[in-house]
Amino acid sequence: MHVDFAMKASIGWSNTGSSVLVVLLAALCAQVATGSPAATSRPGASSPAPGGAADLLLKSGSVYSVDDARTWAQAIAIRAGRIAYVGTDRGAALYVTPSTRVIDLKGKMVLPAFQDAHIHPISSGIQANSCTLIGLNTPTQYVAAIERYAAAHPDKPWITGGGWLMSAFGPGGAPRRQLIDAVVPDRPVFLSSTDGHTYWANTKALELARITNQTPDPPDGRIDRDPKTGAAIGSLQEGAGDLVASVVPPATAAEHEAGLRYAIKLLNRYGITAVQDAQVSEDDLKAYRAVDRRGELSLRVVAAIWWERGLGLEQIDTIKRLRAEYSVGRIDAGTVKIMLDGVMENYTALMLKPYLKVPGEVRGIPMVKADVLDEAVARLDAAGFQVHFHAIGDGAVREALDAIERARHLNGDLGHRHHIAHLELIDAADIPRFRELRVIANFQPLWAFADEYITNLTVPFLGPERSSRLYQIGSLYRSGAVVAFGSDWSVSSANPLEEIQVAVTRMGPAGETRTPFLPGERINLPEALAAFTINAAYANRLEKMTGSLETGKNADLIVLDRNLFAIPTTEIAKARVLVTLFDGREVHGDLGAL
Ligand SMILES: [Zn+2]
Repeated sequence: MHVDFAMKASIGWSNTGSSVLVVLLAALCAQVATGSPAATSRPGASSPAPGGAADLLLKSGSVYSVDDARTWAQAIAIRAGRIAYVGTDRGAALYVTPSTRVIDLKGKMVLPAFQDAHIHPISSGIQANSCTLIGLNTPTQYVAAIERYAAAHPDKPWITGGGWLMSAFGPGGAPRRQLIDAVVPDRPVFLSSTDGHTYWANTKALELARITNQTPDPPDGRIDRDPKTGAAIGSLQEGAGDLVASVVPPATAAEHEAGLRYAIKLLNRYGITAVQDAQVSEDDLKAYRAVDRRGELSLRVVAAIWWERGLGLEQIDTIKRLRAEYSVGRIDAGTVKIMLDGVMENYTALMLKPYLKVPGEVRGIPMVKADVLDEAVARLDAAGFQVHFHAIGDGAVREALDAIERARHLNGDLGHRHHIAHLELIDAADIPRFRELRVIANFQPLWAFADEYITNLTVPFLGPERSSRLYQIGSLYRSGAVVAFGSDWSVSSANPLEEIQVAVTRMGPAGETRTPFLPGERINLPEALAAFTINAAYANRLEKMTGSLETGKNADLIVLDRNLFAIPTTEIAKARVLVTLFDGREVHGDLGAL
């Protein structure tokens, strides 16, 4: 297995027979590549390409392979969508025939294509195609955008979309319905916050959802209310959003597919060719399958099937059916997503100790009952699923680790790639458990700098001690755990280069902050690249075919406009992906234009 060193050391895996073979073959190739001219008179010399004809040869590049030894190479030969050779220009010449397309990279950097271990391609694509507020920062801008969108879409019965920032609405981050009523009084409007944990509704939408002063808070959410009148103010936290969502007409199949097509294009442009969709419904699975069948899915997709919090263990039968029905083509529906808590900014992340400055002993909202959780994880593990947890508070992280530990006691270690996403706060006692339990730490590194979410909406409510332990990416790496990265797009930018820059600097990707946030938690560039390539491939169960540039793997790779190792770390996000190859085929950019 070609996995990150830290993981190999921690898990104590030895090379399997097949990877020894790959190493031997690679050594043989290298020998041929650098050997005497007599090498060309060995068997095969009579054919025009002693190494076997390549369809495509990339030469004279700076190829960072992300193999176990983090080898650099000059050239890659590709045959039938797979890597036939990685090594020197001289060695690669043995693969050239008159029909081989030869591209001179002129020193440009080549990397394995990126993989995102936690992302929402379809819902983000649908949002981008609807009333999107992404990129805007103030209530005035939001209202103007909503008014414009409503005017441009007079026949839409509902105005939906989102992307607004909680930080635009001050502490608590709660927007009010009257702001929208002023521009759209006659049609329902329902807009998700950029992190998807809070919803902004106008009065019409609340009426259609029959939310009144008497409506109780659901167990997994909170209706924000006017303290004097008890009336809903228009912001709905977590599961309270479902009260409105359940009366919004669902997106059509065409809208799902259009959202997916938007996402594919964007992700390929950012150099991403494999994703873990962190929350899929059957409608999403249908869209993936339909687009794949048309040959348009230039992504490998791990689909994490959504665990319905309102249902119990009986849903496992449905989940098994979905896995069987939709794990076809480039789709692997063998993961289940369990959301254990909310977010810190609205005090719904599950904490071991109460929030500060919040009346009462508030420790967040547990989303799944402890006994159901333990049993669910044990059964899913036994049935061969990977479990992908959403856990932000230290209480939720502990719940997830405890449930995995219990499953391991019951089932033994079945080798599944369970992982915990987000990991904003982890209790010190739980850090070594990732390595011990072989649980992947699935971070979203773009969150790990001191933006307004951290300085205004998090730190005051945690206090200094807990705030000094946020996003411990470096600690997890040093503990020997496997660290994988994901963007959580559309919560954050889908551009891995922005994420990588923040992981290595702990400063804003566009220079928003100049002081590193908890600099001891920085990681280095090779570690950050591994987290977006081979380690994410491991989380996606794709590490045997992708995640590094090695003989026999699929030719999923990118060409960058600059060498990331040769520029200041504060400029990584400025780099551009010029070309993305998926199975050796250009899905973004043009090799001929390099
Ligand atoms: Zn997510």
